[in-house]
Amino acid sequence: MAEYEYETHDYDVVVVGAGGSGLRATLGMAEQGLRTACVTKVFPTRSHTVAAQGGIAASLSNMGPDHWQWHMYDTVKGSDWLGDTDAMEYLARHAPEAVYELEHYGVPFSRTEEGKIYQRPFGGHTTEFGEGPPVQRTCAAADRTGHAILHTLYGQSLKNNAEFYIEYFAIDLLMDDDGACTGVVCWKLDDGTMHVFNAKMVVLATGGYGRAYFSATSAHTCTGDGGGMVARAGLPLQDMEFVQFHPTGIYGAGCLITEGARGEGGYLTNSEGERFMERYAPNYKDLAPRDYVSRCMTMEVREGRGVGKDGDHIHLNLSHLPKEALHLRLPGISESARIFAGVDVTKEPIPVIPTVHYNMGGIPTNYWGEVLNPTKDEPNRVVPGLMAVGEAGCASVHGANRLGSNSLIDLVVFGRAAAIRAGKVVDREAATRAVNKGQVDKALDRFDALRHADGGTPTAELRLEMQKTMQADAAVFRTAETMKKGLDKMVSIAGKVDDLKVTDRSLVWNSDLMETLELTNLMPNALATIAGAEARKESRGAHAHEDHSTRDDENWRVHTISHIDGAKIDLSYRPIVTDPLTTEDQGGIALKKIAPKERTF
Ligand SMILES: Cc1cc2nc3c(=O)[nH]c(=O)nc-3n(C[C@H](O)[C@H](O)[C@H](O)COP(=O)(O)OP(=O)(O)OC[C@H]3O[C@@H](n4cnc5c(N)ncnc54)[C@H](O)[C@@H]3O)c2cc1C
Repeated sequence: MAEYEYETHDYDVVVVGAGGSGLRATLGMAEQGLRTACVTKVFPTRSHTVAAQGGIAASLSNMGPDHWQWHMYDTVKGSDWLGDTDAMEYLARHAPEAVYELEHYGVPFSRTEEGKIYQRPFGGHTTEFGEGPPVQRTCAAADRTGHAILHTLYGQSLKNNAEFYIEYFAIDLLMDDDGACTGVVCWKLDDGTMHVFNAKMVVLATGGYGRAYFSATSAHTCTGDGGGMVARAGLPLQDMEFVQFHPTGIYGAGCLITEGARGEGGYLTNSEGERFMERYAPNYKDLAPRDYVSRCMTMEVREGRGVGKDGDHIHLNLSHLPKEALHLRLPGISESARIFAGVDVTKEPIPVIPTVHYNMGGIPTNYWGEVLNPTKDEPNRVVPGLMAVGEAGCASVHGANRLGSNSLIDLVVFGRAAAIRAGKVVDREAATRAVNKGQVDKALDRFDALRHADGGTPTAELRLEMQKTMQADAAVFRTAETMKKGLDKMVSIAGKVDDLKVTDRSLVWNSDLMETLELTNLMPNALATIAGAEARKESRGAHAHEDHSTRDDENWRVHTISHIDGAKIDLSYRPIVTDPLTTEDQGGIALKKIAPKERTF
């Protein structure tokens, strides 16, 4: 057995992750006087949220009429009727107050002439329950909205005495015999010491797992660590087959050009110079939702109308926009286009291609962020002591497809909700439970085994194999044959984790070991993704199955629940929540308004 000394820390709440969701949860907990620690593997303001450009959705009506019910309808439709209705209502209803709260905390939003928060149009956001014209609902701080939010929330958290453990890597959860979470084991990256955080509530805010794919807009740190920890604790992941491809990743580099670029009037063209989205989506054109635009772009390329020497990508045009608008509203992407595509956006189009961008699936939770461990009889069973928020979680508000600017709002609304809930369920007077040594040893043994791993497969090699397989076989278009092939391949790749080779045995700044731990987290996320996709015999949202090209509400309006144990996969299904929080006579939405129908644009 591995011998490591560790320091023990006691808190009411430990939040793992300091992106938008982790910081909003941390702040909310600390504001209520809960003793709160936030553990993060990167400096808080370097979390992937910093890269969010486009903005944050809320029906403020600053640019024209809007209503939370319209926002809710768009989210339901955007999810292709797979989201949980209660959570989607909670999101749309609480979005305006969450944004005003951010404003009061100090987020420097862009302004209208009268000094109100500026809002831009974004794909899939409309008026009159999808019957009216597009709405300007997305609040923005130029094209650096995530950056502004992170800096503000970090400052506010410090002001409220939250304690930060920066560059600490969470390895595994501590679970007691009754299935409750009691803490988390961490490795401090800069001095190699080990730390056990004992807590009455652990909040996973570890972000997405875009790096399971070869080309992704997300940071290299987006490795699904929360999902990995949950899988190893014997808990399930939900709806992992739904992976969003953003229509406009820069060709080659993968960096994002925000949808805000199309919101401000940019449009896509094929090799014939045609604005092809007018043909596919006569109403919303370039601002149709992301899954749809990505599919249309892929179709254009497949039918031989792609641009470039290999005819394998598409052009995004911004040069017709006034220079001042580009400078004022989209300064960051003008810079990205120059650096990563060598393009001057005032003169030339940007080469773009659909690129992995967001994970709709994640750790199943209710709309308070409490993690669920569903059984057949109890589909909403809560895991005591454990919450998940942000992209790591699945509440589920995005269902089969997330609307642009609905993630940032998800982070703050549910980060805040988790804090409200923790304020009620965490007993401040109670002592934290004694450390379960057996559980700590188990986590440290796994760590030690990877540290000394001496097989034949270097981490980088296995990771590349996984990424290429996912990119090829769990892509924008999916067939029964490619998914079956991909699944078999992924099972064999996951089996090779036992044959990993780590060359650096030290404990200080050992990036080889850290990347290996991350790979062991990416693996269950990737397996659940391709297995869920292979099993789902319909097309819905981001899951476009060529052999089952229509949505099948009768059989498939259900959440996929996957238990992953090493290379073993166990899938089951859980009903979605169809009831809203409030009914029509309580001021809520009329059920007939959100009944499933065909998604047209
Ligand atoms: C380029 C880009 C642009 C985007 N633009 C928008 C937009 O305009 N609007 C919008 O709504 N959405 C946007 N999104 C989506 C949105 O930004 C993300 O979904 C969201 O920021 C995720 O936030 P998070 O809090 O869940 O996690 P992240 O911001 O990814 O943070 C994860 C945190 O977890 C920590 N962590 C992870 N693993 C561990 C571990 N093992 N131990 C310790 N700490 C750990 C990290 O250190 C980090 O602090 C964009 C995404 C990308 C990639």
